[in-house]
Amino acid sequence: MGRSIGNQNLKQYIVRKAKQLGAEIVGFAPVSRWEEYNETKPSFFPQNILPNTKTVIVLGVPILIPMLDTTPSIVYSELYNTTNRLLDDIAYKITVAINAKGYQSIFFPRDGYGDISVLVPKPEAAFSHVFAAKYAGLGTIGYNHTLLTKEFGPRVRLVSILTEAEIAPDQIIKRELCIKCELCGKCCPTSAFTTTENLIADMDKTKCAVYHEQLKKELHYPCGVCIKVCPIGDDRKLFGNNTRKYLNEKKVLSRDPSNAEYSGWEHCRSFGSK
Ligand code: SF4
Ligand code: SF4
Repeated sequence: MGRSIGNQNLKQYIVRKAKQLGAEIVGFAPVSRWEEYNETKPSFFPQNILPNTKTVIVLGVPILIPMLDTTPSIVYSELYNTTNRLLDDIAYKITVAINAKGYQSIFFPRDGYGDISVLVPKPEAAFSHVFAAKYAGLGTIGYNHTLLTKEFGPRVRLVSILTEAEIAPDQIIKRELCIKCELCGKCCPTSAFTTTENLIADMDKTKCAVYHEQLKKELHYPCGVCIKVCPIGDDRKLFGNNTRKYLNEKKVLSRDPSNAEYSGWEHCRSFGSK
């Protein structure tokens, strides 16, 4: 072990390795940004979790729109599990590699809760990848409390590596990506969002968690509607955007469950889960 390479080289090494392992987006945040923005309690700061932390490296992998469109379904559920496994694998391998170069590092797992039932009374994890990703320049926080990225809108799953290596930070994105169209709020099956004068809505996290308990029992967890319908992201260029279809989905299907426009989504929903 030894601090064998300079920090610019270390940054290039981490980005290259992360991309080789499957990360599509990578960003670097100095710990000072947690104090500067002061959006979480100090106990959630990375330096409280690993005292020597100087940099948080955030990695993201995309959620594919046509698979997410079928939610709640086993198709989306399996995709979600795949992204989670991939993220923890990437983070683990990179963390071990940075430790081998002589820098204390850990990763904070992508979810950080044992079961959805834990989130009903306490809907928070010990560390927020969303804030970390914002401070690492990967995106901005939208109405629906998720990170919106230029590449994938909110359809991105995240994991963070905490390291004592001081690595050149990435620029924060200053211009909000969320356009406050409120489509996510209108389509949310639990009406968990309430609009305020702020860009970010008030959110009833308990409503969302209780609904997720039900989805888990039905074997097609999680929900994801508020990231499915968001129009932001370059991934829309590939897969298109049909706001009307999203807005009308619930109403049309309650009247006509075999409506042709939604038959592919309904087909996937009717197999492999309850
Ligand atoms: S759907 Fe609209 S309001 Fe919701 S996060 Fe996306 S841009 Fe913002
Ligand atoms: S995950 Fe589903 S229930 Fe929870 S806030 Fe988003 S749309 Fe609503």
